[in-house]
Amino acid sequence: KKTILEVKDLKQHYPIKGGFFKRTIGHVKAVDGISFKILEGETMGLVGESGCGKSTAGRTILRLHDATDGTINFLGQDITKLKGKELREARKGFQMVFQDPYASLNPMQMVGDIVGEPIRNYYGKKMSEIEDEVKDLLNRVGLNEDAYYRYAHEFSGGQRQRIGIARALALKPKLIIADEPVSALDVSVQSQVLNIMDDLQKEFNLSYLFIAHDLSVVKHVSDYIGVMYLGHIVEQGPADEVYSNPQHPYTKALISAIPEIDPEKRKERIILKGDLPSPADPPTGCPFHTRCPVAKAECKTIKPRSVQVSERHFASCILLEEGSVVDDSVNH
Ligand code: SF4
Ligand code: MG
Repeated sequence: KKTILEVKDLKQHYPIKGGFFKRTIGHVKAVDGISFKILEGETMGLVGESGCGKSTAGRTILRLHDATDGTINFLGQDITKLKGKELREARKGFQMVFQDPYASLNPMQMVGDIVGEPIRNYYGKKMSEIEDEVKDLLNRVGLNEDAYYRYAHEFSGGQRQRIGIARALALKPKLIIADEPVSALDVSVQSQVLNIMDDLQKEFNLSYLFIAHDLSVVKHVSDYIGVMYLGHIVEQGPADEVYSNPQHPYTKALISAIPEIDPEKRKERIILKGDLPSPADPPTGCPFHTRCPVAKAECKTIKPRSVQVSERHFASCILLEEGSVVDDSVNH
């Protein structure tokens, strides 16, 4: 399969300003060197608790912020530093679906205009010229054509998210970054929206980066999973492998928290002590050592390297390093 997106050692550090002169007194290491690939037609679930850097990673990849370091390669083109016209052109290929469909769509705007706006902006067409195209997009997300003439405020949360998805599709992207696209919706409509995303993926051979705070949400939609902790991807691999054979103690804890209906498969819940440390003052050594149930003394000082577990499965924990293939070049 073709690689759609390749992120290498991506960092996003924000300056912290303080004192009378608002000098830079430190940095928040929101994203601190992450690497991964998304293949054509695949969904990568990026999971972690709030504050782990997953949304910042998504926004940096979309070039809403400039990266502090690292590279973003999209469809074979290095887009890390693109500007102006070239960035605008590349942007057709990657779009975003936001978490809150109430906040992300103007309630007083006509749905046809919302969905058609990117086409109008990019191709300078009149709305009358693209009306059929926009109605077709509305159909594809399961909305009636006459939604075209109605206003966003007339729709429910689930319907608004469909409108957001139709808009994201308007320029025929290859990649959609969806930041918790269903977490603001009622449980009853979550699966409808996920099903639509799944249908569209098959139809257009789309790739998704699906950001979520909960492993149970991405379980059913992801081909590949990345688990983030304090700005790092501590484990990544094919979804079935990560769920059935997690390697990193943090992933093990997250998986133990997923409700399991089958009593035979139920594992003992691993409760993590303490809170997520501040990314402005991350722990030395392994970022997880302050909460890791199996930490050793050396975890405070040694930074774990990325260990290859199988072809596309990697985890960063010193307990895995002995006798394994260690990749020093990137933290996969
Ligand atoms: Fe836990 Fe140490 Fe492994 Fe980090 S390196 S996950 S602290 S055992
Ligand atoms: Mg977030």
